[in-house]
Amino acid sequence: MDNENSQLPYTGQCLCGLIQYAVDKIESQMGHCHCSMCRKFHGAAFSTFAEAQVANFHWLKGKKHLKTYLAPNGTQRKFCEQCGSSLIFVPANDTREIIEFSLGTLDSDTPIKPDAHVFTDYRAHWYEITDPLPQFKENRKT
Ligand SMILES: [Zn+2]
Ligand SMILES: [Zn+2]
Repeated sequence: MDNENSQLPYTGQCLCGLIQYAVDKIESQMGHCHCSMCRKFHGAAFSTFAEAQVANFHWLKGKKHLKTYLAPNGTQRKFCEQCGSSLIFVPANDTREIIEFSLGTLDSDTPIKPDAHVFTDYRAHWYEITDPLPQFKENRKT
């Protein structure tokens, strides 16, 4: 990669590389979510989803390999059918022009950093939050 243009657009992919995307602009709000569904979806202590305007998010390849899990609460989670990487979260009754993608799949560096912990009431017992970011028991208050 040449370093001059490696920052924009940001690019990312799933573990196996079947699915790749580019993002022109990442929105500033980015939280670590400790809810049990995020923990299970990621197989980790928490998820970190970044937001982008739909118009700024582009599938470069492999979109057809996205599988969707529709949860009983109406939320959707999309993942790679081959490697299982967690890629996309869609809220129930979503009408926003926003796409939420898992930051862990991003390959580019981004100047935007997570700014909060949310749904900390559902935090894994074995994980202690030790950074100074604000914590919200459920959704962040905007
Ligand atoms: Zn994959
Ligand atoms: Zn969550």
